[in-house]
Amino acid sequence: MNDPDLHQLLRGNHRALLLVIDALPFPIYYKDHEGKYLGCNKAYADYVQVSREDLIGRNVFDVFDKTPAAIFAASDMELLNNPGIQIYETPVHREGKELNYVKFHKATFHDSDGSVAGLIGAIIDITDQKTLEKKFKRLATYDDLTGIYNRREGRKQLKLLCKEAIRKERPISVILLDIDDFKDINDTYGHDTGDIALKQAAQCLDRYSRAHDFVCRYGGEEFMIILPETNTDSALKIGERYLEALRSMEVQITSSEVIHLTASIGVGELDKEFTDRELMLKQADLALYRAKAGGKNQVCG
Ligand code: GH3
Ligand code: MG
Ligand code: MG
Repeated sequence: MNDPDLHQLLRGNHRALLLVIDALPFPIYYKDHEGKYLGCNKAYADYVQVSREDLIGRNVFDVFDKTPAAIFAASDMELLNNPGIQIYETPVHREGKELNYVKFHKATFHDSDGSVAGLIGAIIDITDQKTLEKKFKRLATYDDLTGIYNRREGRKQLKLLCKEAIRKERPISVILLDIDDFKDINDTYGHDTGDIALKQAAQCLDRYSRAHDFVCRYGGEEFMIILPETNTDSALKIGERYLEALRSMEVQITSSEVIHLTASIGVGELDKEFTDRELMLKQADLALYRAKAGGKNQVCG
């Protein structure tokens, strides 16, 4: 597109050019060095809903509303003042249509003396790509069953929050919470009911969490809660409150039967000297083991 002969082509062999670009499915337009339309393909005329004949000689302010026109004019000017290639993505709100995402590919073309003669732009619809990107991001971040953060995101946040705690020289603790006798719930009421109970438990913990706590599903019926700005003593108390919230939650099994869940908690705190987050998790895991061995439904640190 930087071919110096392109301007020549636009003037000399316009019909051939139109035949070629009209066959392309995405909108293409070309403008002179002042930003006035020299022409466009059929897809662009359909896109802006202005005939090709009406477009030639006009500028973006004649075609678009003031706000988008100002944005287009500014980006055109930036490219014309800095000749080369310009690529950017942007959401587009078109009246009566759902939100789309497009990618603009623009490039300047030049006269035979090398001066900028104008620009050519193509608009590529990337709405499907954006939708997929969002879906992948959701799958990579959230747990499918419960809707709360997943283990992967939990580990990422643990790393970030521990680094922040070390930098600020502030305490940070972690809770590992494992539901008691969950296998019995599956065995007694079936796996589907187990799923419902798990989902409810996850949402209860998430709802109960304080503004800076981070809650995720760490494994089957195990949750990790990161407590920034919290030492072991406070974490033990907070752990008791999480257990209380879970105990008071009712899981509706049938119209006449409800069950209550209990869980066990192990607490670990980041050591000020050996700032190893895996060690903190190991400490929480060992404490959880002690909570189970000590009769479950309790917090150990
Ligand atoms: P403990 O008190 O020692 O923790 O006993 P437990 O029965 O909770 O622990 P155990 O590790 O023996 O069993 C965990 C159970 O959790 C078994 C597994 O099938 C169930 N589980 C894990 N993930 C899911 C899930 O996504 N849905 C359902 N319904 N059950 C799950
Ligand atoms: Mg369990
Ligand atoms: Mg478990």
